[in-house]
Amino acid sequence: MIAKKMEGLVKGSSVIRAMFEEGRKMAQEFGAENVYDFSLGNPNVPAPKAVAEAMTDILEKQDPLYVHGYMSNTGFPEVREAVAVSLNERFGTKFTSDNVVMTVGAASGLNVIFKALLDPGDEVITFAPYFGEYRNYVGNYDGKLVEISPNTADFQPKLAELKEKITQKTKAVLINSPNNPTGVVYSETTIRRLAEILNEKQKSLGRPIYLITDEPYRELVYGDITVPFVTKYYRNTIVAYSFSKSLSLPGERIGYLVIPSELDDYEAVYAAAGVATRILGYVNAPSLQQLAVARCLKETTDIAFYDRNRNELYNGLLKAGFSCQKPEGAFYLFMKTPIEDDMKFCQDAKKYHILIVPGQSFGCSGYARIAYCVAYETIVNALPQFEALAREYGL
Ligand code: PLP
Repeated sequence: MIAKKMEGLVKGSSVIRAMFEEGRKMAQEFGAENVYDFSLGNPNVPAPKAVAEAMTDILEKQDPLYVHGYMSNTGFPEVREAVAVSLNERFGTKFTSDNVVMTVGAASGLNVIFKALLDPGDEVITFAPYFGEYRNYVGNYDGKLVEISPNTADFQPKLAELKEKITQKTKAVLINSPNNPTGVVYSETTIRRLAEILNEKQKSLGRPIYLITDEPYRELVYGDITVPFVTKYYRNTIVAYSFSKSLSLPGERIGYLVIPSELDDYEAVYAAAGVATRILGYVNAPSLQQLAVARCLKETTDIAFYDRNRNELYNGLLKAGFSCQKPEGAFYLFMKTPIEDDMKFCQDAKKYHILIVPGQSFGCSGYARIAYCVAYETIVNALPQFEALAREYGL
């Protein structure tokens, strides 16, 4: 007999599981090359060679007791220092090792910080569309995820609605830019305005509202788009970062939190994050991955690969008659579905062997997410199928 709380969660996750299973079945029936699986954000660019070289070198040359041993729950001090130096060089900040907690990817970073901050009933506000797992991460600590409705004009957050929804129970606001699922980057104007609102509200409430910025796609931006570094705009900012996408290491489970010294109750929050890392059972981020990424902080992924996919897909969808906004970052495209019922549309897409995720999984019906972190050929071969799907809808 499983926990009551888990019963709903298991049921709720079955839609995605069913899609995964269906994709596998379809691949067996029609051949993998005839199935266009755009459902997962699993990078199709291999990790830079430097990562494997760093791991091999560490394993061959460093003391195994050091490489494989326990360390401080927040991570190796020299790795945290290397991360701080890299951030300072790139963003003109003044972080030290005492501002960094190494984590088991962004997923654990978010869980650690929610564990550290949330009392039961505390509210975390986020802007739709958003990464669906946020509901679970906040729910893990009996917090409540409060959604701001989507601004489908340009997918920048609706700040007027935020102002109305901040209450006595608001502990944190959670943002994600470049955004999964829209590929939109929140502009500097947005971040400045957001900071103004939070500063006003902190004053009237007489206590901090933390801004948690989830940034696994920070470096995945196209052209001359820049992503504002949020700690510079709002004092009570905590950053959750991951190497899953930027270095194509999702299976390695490695990332970090940045907890700036300026933060209200910095010492307590930093200490709580260390304890949360331990008692959630992570204990510490994986040691070999910590040491390896510390040597690869200047490495980048092949952004040209994703850019080529982005252009091919975006132009092809427009040509087929669909409407969508061109992504500025990450590797997702959020297309408007020709009918409001995005579940039905995604179901219909399967007839053409196309697997995409309904917008309602991200709190935004009437849209579907296409993860274009796939082989270029998958996009080229899928476009005639998208065209056939468009014709079915009379586009
Ligand atoms: N946050 C967002 C917005 C994501 O898209 C993902 C993964 O897709 C995560 C967090 C979790 O990433 P990680 O692999 O670092 O745990």
